[in-house]
Amino acid sequence: MPEKVQRVKGVNDILPEEAKQWQALESVVKHVMEKFAFGEIRPPIFEKTELFARGVGEDTDIVSKEMYSFSDMSKSSLTLRPELTAGVVRSYIQNNLQQISPVQKLWYEGPMFRQERPQKGRYRQFWQFGAEAIGSPNPEQDAEMIALFFAILKALGIEKSVLLKINSVGDSESRATYRKALQDFLRPHLSELSETSQHRFESNPLRILDSKAPNDKLLVKNAPKIRECLNASSKTHYAEVLKMLEAMGIPYVQDDLLVRGLDYYTHTIFEFTSDALGAQDAICGGGRYNDLVKELGGQDVPAIGWASGIERLLLVVEALRPLEVASGLDLFLIVLGDELRLTAPKLVHEWREAGLSCDMDTLRRSMKAQMREANRQEARYVAILGEEEFDQGVVQLKNFETGEQEAVSFENVASVIINALSS
Ligand code: AMP
Repeated sequence: MPEKVQRVKGVNDILPEEAKQWQALESVVKHVMEKFAFGEIRPPIFEKTELFARGVGEDTDIVSKEMYSFSDMSKSSLTLRPELTAGVVRSYIQNNLQQISPVQKLWYEGPMFRQERPQKGRYRQFWQFGAEAIGSPNPEQDAEMIALFFAILKALGIEKSVLLKINSVGDSESRATYRKALQDFLRPHLSELSETSQHRFESNPLRILDSKAPNDKLLVKNAPKIRECLNASSKTHYAEVLKMLEAMGIPYVQDDLLVRGLDYYTHTIFEFTSDALGAQDAICGGGRYNDLVKELGGQDVPAIGWASGIERLLLVVEALRPLEVASGLDLFLIVLGDELRLTAPKLVHEWREAGLSCDMDTLRRSMKAQMREANRQEARYVAILGEEEFDQGVVQLKNFETGEQEAVSFENVASVIINALSS
């Protein structure tokens, strides 16, 4: 026997039963995005590697060790997108979206690819939906972005079980002040830091704050806080964001150690976590990135965005409040007698055209097996077609729930069911 091909490590098959939860979640997301006046954008799944190296940052975990990169026939290095902010910004610049309107509010959904060590809630292909608002430097835009994700949590009924952590890394001047203060604080302890943190001491010292190494964690506990190094305008921006969140009734906690793994953030950064998850507890992360559009060759346009992991969000939803999904067929046609098999597809076709969800057996199985299939598919009605019915142009239409049965002509089947289901 030929050997079975197994799926790649760290990726998932989403099978039909599970896909129903995905669809229900996707419809909530789409609905809320529309309410907030965000338009959907669908950038490509792969981009030039250079986009992520420049956009996400050479020194990040994502770019330095997690990307799926390959060469195509023209020997260009391409990469399966590890996240979509860089791709959205590339698309915004390339398509001159600022000409359409000075603020572009965009949302997306799709698979991302990172070569991480797989574990529960952490995969190598995973799905995100996210939103980016490009154009406004003002705190009301930050507040709207956070309110947007909060509205999705609320629509899912899980907002009370999720924690919003927020921090500000300020503008570049504030970050430079803080970088120096942090380096001054850490310098005497440099040799005690983990190897990764020692490496980051020069290249990106802020990342040392979210190191997982126990000794690094102990050391940074007493480090100066970035909030204390914000200049006046950064402080005002942050204070106004917090005030607007309070006015909207969105609870938050300030987290001085929150820095997030990507290089491009400025000012507000935030993360939503859930204790219904294990170690991988972040369900959404984002922040302001005022310099990225310029760094990727666009104009000097400020922006803010976030992304949420669908698999993780669904783990929370399943644990706390599974989504209601439509189940079951309207009608299953049961055919008795081989000669009638020629008529059956036409009937089913017409009933589908009339608006019913409808199915039939294509294995020519026994009546009992067809009944079992109708049951498995949770059909609300079955239509039984035998020789006698065929001659009269009718089916025996049986309501599975009440057990009631009546003869209904072929052309009336759809309207009888539609009327009954809508009453
Ligand atoms: P990031 O783009 O790293 O800020 O991640 C944003 C969100 O995507 C996280 O909060 C997670 O919910 C999700 N996420 C990130 N990496 C993974 C992964 N490897 N597997 C599953 N979900 C992920």
